[in-house]
Amino acid sequence: MTSYFSNAELEAFLDELLPAERMSAIEEALRTSDELQQRLTAINGRRDAGLHSLGEIWRRHRLSCPTREQLGSYLLGVLAEDAADYVRFHVETLGCRYCASSAADLRNQQSAAEVEVVQQRRQRYFQSSAGYLRRGDS
Ligand SMILES: [Zn+2]
Repeated sequence: MTSYFSNAELEAFLDELLPAERMSAIEEALRTSDELQQRLTAINGRRDAGLHSLGEIWRRHRLSCPTREQLGSYLLGVLAEDAADYVRFHVETLGCRYCASSAADLRNQQSAAEVEVVQQRRQRYFQSSAGYLRRGDS
């Protein structure tokens, strides 16, 4: 199985900003691929020369990170289309670790809120059926 890694990903790899699975996929590929090693060396050389790509500068200064509110709206699917496209690119394509962990965090909060709603509904159901059974007993 061959995987393709974009330059943006290789740059993020150098910054250790990729999701863990992607980091190890690249590490794995680097062991066997001369081509990939050369590309990574070239990218590393370019940044040593001070020529940073725009994506790299963004990542470095975290200018491209959406706010937590934007991220939350994105996860709920209520963010405006173009903003949502941007967040998707940032989190899924660039694989920003900061945002990925914020997103995981927010997802937990959101699902915890959903579980609570279900529990409340269930509790109401059991309370009413318990009431019904009690009445039926006497
Ligand atoms: Zn980010």
